Amino acid sequence: MVVIKLLFKESQVIMKDNNIEEIISLTNDLEDLKDCLKKLLETKHKAIIMEGECQSSFSNTVYLVDGKLVDVRLALMDEIGLPVLTQAEVDKVGLDDAIREFYSYHTWHLDYHGIGAGKKECSKESLLTIGNGFFGLRGAFAEAKASDDHYPATYIAGLFNQLATPIGEHEVVNEDFVNAPNAQFITFRVNDEPWFSPEAANILDCYRSLNLKNGELTIQLLASIGDGKEVLVRTKKVANMKDRHQYALSYEITPINFSGEIEICSQIDGSIINSGVERYRSLASKHLVVKEAAIYKDVAYLGAVTTQSNIELGIVAKLSIPQDMAIENEVEDEIVTQKVTFRAESGVSYLFEKQVAIFTSNETTGNLVQKATEAATKNSYMIAKAESTSSWKDLWQQIDIKVTGDWYSQKLLRLHNFHLMVSASPFANYDLDASIGARGLHGEAYRGHIFWDEIYILPYYILHFPETAKQILLYRYKRLPAAKIYAKEHGYKGAMFPWQSGLYGDEQSQVLHLNPLSGQWGKDYSSLQRHVSLAVVYNVWYYYHITQDQEFLAKYGMEILLEVAKFWLSKATENPETKRYDIHKVMGPNEFHDKYPGAEEGGFTNNAYTNMTVVWFLEALERLKLEIPSDKLKGLMEKTGFTDDDWQKADDIMHRLTLDIDENGVIGQYQGFFELKEFDWDHYREKYGNIYRLDRLLKAEGKSANDYKVTKQADALMAFYNFDKNQIDEILQDLNYQLPEDYLEKNLHYYLARTSHGSTLSRIVHAPLAEEIGNRQLAWKLFSEALNSDYGDIQGGTTAEGIHTGVMAATLMVTLSTFGGVNVRGDMLTLNPNLPEKWERLAFNLCFKGINLQVTMTKDDVRLLADADISVSIKGRMYHLVKNTCLLGAV
Ligand code: BGC
Repeated sequence: MVVIKLLFKESQVIMKDNNIEEIISLTNDLEDLKDCLKKLLETKHKAIIMEGECQSSFSNTVYLVDGKLVDVRLALMDEIGLPVLTQAEVDKVGLDDAIREFYSYHTWHLDYHGIGAGKKECSKESLLTIGNGFFGLRGAFAEAKASDDHYPATYIAGLFNQLATPIGEHEVVNEDFVNAPNAQFITFRVNDEPWFSPEAANILDCYRSLNLKNGELTIQLLASIGDGKEVLVRTKKVANMKDRHQYALSYEITPINFSGEIEICSQIDGSIINSGVERYRSLASKHLVVKEAAIYKDVAYLGAVTTQSNIELGIVAKLSIPQDMAIENEVEDEIVTQKVTFRAESGVSYLFEKQVAIFTSNETTGNLVQKATEAATKNSYMIAKAESTSSWKDLWQQIDIKVTGDWYSQKLLRLHNFHLMVSASPFANYDLDASIGARGLHGEAYRGHIFWDEIYILPYYILHFPETAKQILLYRYKRLPAAKIYAKEHGYKGAMFPWQSGLYGDEQSQVLHLNPLSGQWGKDYSSLQRHVSLAVVYNVWYYYHITQDQEFLAKYGMEILLEVAKFWLSKATENPETKRYDIHKVMGPNEFHDKYPGAEEGGFTNNAYTNMTVVWFLEALERLKLEIPSDKLKGLMEKTGFTDDDWQKADDIMHRLTLDIDENGVIGQYQGFFELKEFDWDHYREKYGNIYRLDRLLKAEGKSANDYKVTKQADALMAFYNFDKNQIDEILQDLNYQLPEDYLEKNLHYYLARTSHGSTLSRIVHAPLAEEIGNRQLAWKLFSEALNSDYGDIQGGTTAEGIHTGVMAATLMVTLSTFGGVNVRGDMLTLNPNLPEKWERLAFNLCFKGINLQVTMTKDDVRLLADADISVSIKGRMYHLVKNTCLLGAV
């Protein structure tokens, strides 16, 4: 038998596999069921088939387990890794087709059964967020107000505001990512019962499903009201991908077992504050002043402005109601409310629709409320959905990565692609002055700020939507003046981009940092991560390399490069003793280390990642200067004050920067790293279990991570993520360091043993390196864990505060580069496919030097189709691809 059968009967489940029969009592919890299943499972099994009396009208796989309604399909499928089907599905189309249908549904949907609480529930809301690059609408229940269990926020790209909070004798100023007025709110009440709010106690059953293909979120719930009245509510939401200003809700309500009075309440709530991150809650959080609140007939208006940045907002909602009903309007200072009361008949469904439009003065001039009115009143839910579906279709044509043989990876890769498009998309980011924040348009952690995470994200946009990538690079270009001021303030020349960037491009990192475990404030040196400027120039280089956009280089790119080069030239100092250059007072990506043991000041000397990347940058700059017509270059040198002497100094520095390398060829994270104490990993693991934030654990014990050889994430090794091994060889040669042949292997082992993966950006950097040294098992483990970062909320709650855009994009990049073996860093496109064991086929598109390519690979061959002639190398063999003609290469 190739299937395992589960027969749900009364209070037990019978598992059948050939002659083996196991009976498990359903009073036990789900874990027992999983354990028993795992024992029976063998590789021959193709599926699990269930039969029994389903307990839900929203899903056909809900059974009673341990006294609770459990969607057994959803609960089992991820962990067991097999399709979980019902007997009825198999009877209808046969086993093979039922399996196919399972794959095609679950690789395009993110579904949750039931309602939870706290961070777990808020993480789901982050993952159910819909949006279009202009705004993100957290996937909360429409009926939810902000609480510990729900956070129905709306974020708009570039909407920042600063507020000051007095703390002790200080005044701490923070620039927040403003939570915009909540216009998705809609709820109901029956007779004189309280307004319905989505809490477990009021919900008999509930199912949420996000369709990744068209961006529609459907929430079905069966509410229990008062003395046993049941109300079925079906909410659908769509953020229009085609019209970036618009979203729509459809709200259908059905009394199941009674007839009576139902009242609907729809609002635009401008009284909201920023409260999505618990640890920021003691800080000032009211960013908006409502200037205008009005309702005319079925259209509600709210005009607001941010308190410090003076960004205006116009939000309009049009409520559509059944013909024979009337709207009652209520206008308060900050909230506009529309209510509809009607007599509802048992079993009859009543449909309401809400069209919402949002405009801000960041991207729109003129009367915002008027523009929003036009956008909100122009169409219906159906039209918004149809428009959005067609735009998502265009997006998927370009971005979809198709994996055959591993539906779980397929699903997560699509989830990551989806949320990147929610965070920035070609349909919204064609003129926006915004970049992609570390937590997307999905949450308030890191206050929506923009970090070096761009280095993980932008290459993916460059390969798929170069125009969008260019727009995002312009966010940095526009903040070049601020970066120059920042450099000057610190006694440097050129431009120094801030570690955390928001509206103005000045430094937004906190100076004080609260340790949630000890409750104590300490100095925060994280802004010493000057390598963020290297991420900016890496992306400029990458963009130019892939697009060959000379105009961009001459108009914007080169100016950024020259200013950042000037900064590094002024930062590097010659050491008369070593006859080399040093770079002092920087932090690397390892945020566990911010100063030398016992030091008063933050920062380190000669961070390897920084220094190696500076060498690469100065080498790249020398090559790029040849790409610019000499008169233009001269003009740019004059504009930036980059002199001939500077070129010489750059050449000198790139040959004489310092690295600290030990006798085994391990590149020290910085000078002095090797002298630190070894950390007792086993002891701490045993003591605390999860030690991924061991910096905090140590602090709470009165110790400091600075004293130990511990690292939060890839630091020196990050250079190997950005560059090919032969480029690193070149950097080391330029610096005149000789390392043993197997130095990559040695460095990887050394650092992996000392890394806690305290950032989601860690594993995904190590995965390609593991693959490169031939440890495929380790590579796959690290990749799969990274893939699960948000879906599995592997940091235990951080997803609640927003998704992690860096790792999402990096998993897509690593799929292309490590498993697809695509290398775009050289002059020619090369492919060395290396599909993971489970993957039978991998297909994707990319854009290289202005040419669009479709790539499909199996373990035996590669098929390529390009829209122009191009030469490529596959497994070291040269092929010439003729425009629009499929090429088949052997692997
Ligand atoms: C990581 C940084 C990252 C930041 C924002 C931190 O936890 O250590 O490398 O830039 O998160 O994602």
